[in-house]
Amino acid sequence: MSNIRIDADLLIVGDGEIIKNGSVVIENSTIKYAGESEHAPSAGQNLQVPAITPGFWDCHAHYFGLTKFDYEERFLDPLVKIMRCAWDTEQTLRAGVTSVREVGGFGINLKNSITEGTIIGPRIYAAGSMISMTAGHGDAHSLPSEVFDYFAQRHRVTNPIADGVAEVTKLVRTHIRAGAEIIKFAASGGVMSEIDPPLTQQYSAEEQRAIMDEAARADLAVAAHCYGPRGMKVALEAGVKTIEHGTYIDEDLCDLMIEKDAILVPTVYTYKGLFGTPEAKENTPEYGYRKGQLILKTHTKMLSMAINRGVKIAMGTDIIITGPYHPIYQYGDNLRELQYFVDAGMSPLQAISAGTMMGPQTLGKRGPQSGLLREGFDADLVIFNENPLDDISKLNDRSNIQNVIKQGKPLEPF
Ligand SMILES: [Zn+2]
Repeated sequence: MSNIRIDADLLIVGDGEIIKNGSVVIENSTIKYAGESEHAPSAGQNLQVPAITPGFWDCHAHYFGLTKFDYEERFLDPLVKIMRCAWDTEQTLRAGVTSVREVGGFGINLKNSITEGTIIGPRIYAAGSMISMTAGHGDAHSLPSEVFDYFAQRHRVTNPIADGVAEVTKLVRTHIRAGAEIIKFAASGGVMSEIDPPLTQQYSAEEQRAIMDEAARADLAVAAHCYGPRGMKVALEAGVKTIEHGTYIDEDLCDLMIEKDAILVPTVYTYKGLFGTPEAKENTPEYGYRKGQLILKTHTKMLSMAINRGVKIAMGTDIIITGPYHPIYQYGDNLRELQYFVDAGMSPLQAISAGTMMGPQTLGKRGPQSGLLREGFDADLVIFNENPLDDISKLNDRSNIQNVIKQGKPLEPF
């Protein structure tokens, strides 16, 4: 039985509270005590550290295993792509991200290898593939449909395309059967797809309701990829838990999100990293670059408005590229997203809550007891050398991370 007490100059609880001279006592994979050191029970092992936060959540990740988003890469042997993802999952955990909501990619496969200890990585709550209508964001428009069918069956956990109430209902069930713990679908056009403008709605209200109803019967939350206001309104009214991206959200939609207790996952990281750098043009197809530039112009203004309006916000990066090949767009750099939240108007403490406490809420009823330094919660935490509240960029400075503990187990031996 592992039993350890960690005393810290500062505990950042995750819900906005901070405790000076605090302690966390871990028993096996659970937090047994978190609070003032003077009341903390003793344990077999004792450590003194500068600062502790809960383990972070990346609520919008993709383990695709692509070095570039082109067809040559997308048609590579899926085994090669999955192997590449082992680098990404390890870097994710080393960055202090102990949980990932993987909203399309090989997450279901990787989760098993991580759980059995074959590869290193965070806890994964995966969607399988993003559900999309024909000609929607999950389709590949320039390929003959039979070629895309072949690709979808061989390269995805589940085929992503369904149309009409009967098909979408069946596809949600197929995802659940494959092990999905979150359902993701496209409610508007996208950026990294060829012919669908981001402002347009995808799926009728009836189809969206069918997706939501089937997921709700299994107590699964639904994440909607969505840029435009029309698709967003329909998705929120149908009961979606999270709006992913949300670039063209307006004040009325912010109020509707608050009323429906929905959460925004703004994925600023991907717009800055993929479309805001000199490498962007050569690394992205022409349609993606063109649409990405438009998003980049509006996105941070929208985020400031949503923060001011009081919309619930969770951290998600939307990293779609594998490996260390891109200068500021790679797994391991996840917590840079929280710096963008502070730039848009959050306090450092609010940004840390968006990256910790909000994570499990994006999974709705299936959300685990995680993301807070509280008794009974999962023993997922990050130990920092310097207080990240003084300088939020210290969250994303690898030399500042002393250790990461996942399910009570330290990444590096104490
Ligand atoms: Zn995404």
